[in-house]
Amino acid sequence: MEVRRTVPVTLDVDSDDAALLENTVDTLLWSAQYVVDHAFEGEYVITSKTTLDDETYDDVREATNGFNGGLVQAARNKAAEACKSVVARWKNAKKASKPRMSSPHVVYDHRTATFYNEYVSLATTDGRIEADYVLPDKGSDTPHAEYLFSDEYETTGAELHRKHGEWQLHIHCKKEGESDTPEQATTTHGTVLGVDLGVNNLAVTSTGMFWTGDEFDHWRREYENRRGDLQACGTRWAHENMQAVGRKEEGRFKMTLHRIANELVAEARDHDCSVIAFEDLTDIRERTGASWGHKWAFNRLYEYVEYKTAEYGITVEQVDPENTSRRCSTCGFAHPDNRKSESFKCQKCSYQNHADYNAAKNIGLWYLRRNQTGGDEGEPLGVRLHSGTLNVNGEYESPAEVSVRTGVHAEESHPFTCG
Ligand SMILES: [Zn+2]
Repeated sequence: MEVRRTVPVTLDVDSDDAALLENTVDTLLWSAQYVVDHAFEGEYVITSKTTLDDETYDDVREATNGFNGGLVQAARNKAAEACKSVVARWKNAKKASKPRMSSPHVVYDHRTATFYNEYVSLATTDGRIEADYVLPDKGSDTPHAEYLFSDEYETTGAELHRKHGEWQLHIHCKKEGESDTPEQATTTHGTVLGVDLGVNNLAVTSTGMFWTGDEFDHWRREYENRRGDLQACGTRWAHENMQAVGRKEEGRFKMTLHRIANELVAEARDHDCSVIAFEDLTDIRERTGASWGHKWAFNRLYEYVEYKTAEYGITVEQVDPENTSRRCSTCGFAHPDNRKSESFKCQKCSYQNHADYNAAKNIGLWYLRRNQTGGDEGEPLGVRLHSGTLNVNGEYESPAEVSVRTGVHAEESHPFTCG
């Protein structure tokens, strides 16, 4: 069993270093806002850390005159999490607008900070500074003595806070448990990302990412209209033109699908998923009322994801989708009345959520059940949600349950809605 603690420590900082930390916090907030603005630029919000990193890292480094790479990534993480919590709120039909990055704290890890017994070295906008801990007398029964100076605990990172003119570091420590505990075994197993495909939403993941079908529908209608016009002409020229329109539209569809596939793979990588599970595509038209165009899109999307995951060792599978849309992902009860268009409400346990999201979780669960082979090495043990996992019985396991927290210092509450 892994045990985690957070120890708050005040830092002794002179005015020059305080100015540097001030500048570092401001630069980090500016960078995070830049990433948020970018994430909100397109038709839908980008929440994948990998995608945001690819699309903003160089620009942020340039605009900030080479801000420390690890801190640029910390800014990107902060931005991605803020964007994800907005999307999670929308998913639950709650209001939320573009986040403003104003909370003055910086997440440090081992690339951006080095922790010593009595001081810390922190990356800033201008090299590193060293700051002494302001500690109570040694030997007293304080969390510092128990965790910070203990050989049993290892420092994993920290958050820098500016509070009432003081600089504080919340240092995270961790103690590894016995190596044969089952809790540890879960870290060697990946998780499954369930993906539901459909007409209103082209794809929805068990982590709560949605890709709407609007763009696709728009192009398809446009294409059919134009094809109709050309067909009405009936000439050879019109026929050739029609084929050209077809090729062009197909190219645009494919580009969109490539982008969605990239984002899906990034989502799986961001969440350490070893498997991406789709529903069986064979009878998808009959089940979902999808058009031939949609089926064509689903097949392409599947192929692209399969192709793109190969280099990361992520497996892509199709599973039997029996009752996926009508079954409750929490208690397993299946009933036609559970689903009313886009909303799902279990008649038995009252679990409520977006119908496609419930379906995505079911697809992940089907994969788990089908592959339950008594914990073979590397077989996934859970369905990945936005935060936490579902086990094979559909029970929610939050990340907090995996590691025990008995709070020397209350962890910052998680802003996400999940489950
Ligand atoms: Zn239920």
